[in-house]
Amino acid sequence: MSTARRPERHLVVVPAQPPHRHDWQTRSCHRTSQGLLSYEHCGGCGRWRVHLNRTATTTLVEVP
Ligand SMILES: [Zn+2]
Repeated sequence: MSTARRPERHLVVVPAQPPHRHDWQTRSCHRTSQGLLSYEHCGGCGRWRVHLNRTATTTLVEVP
């Protein structure tokens, strides 16, 4: 016997989150060849982000 099954669609409902302004605070920063790499943490939601600041005052000199 064959029962035609329709593929069920599962809708993932993402609850609308209230607007949250991240309160990024720099926890640590490292100077790399790409720029100033800073690890920032938001105390509001606990997220982390890595920020690369290429506009550091350091002038990169390429070694031939
Ligand atoms: Zn946040």
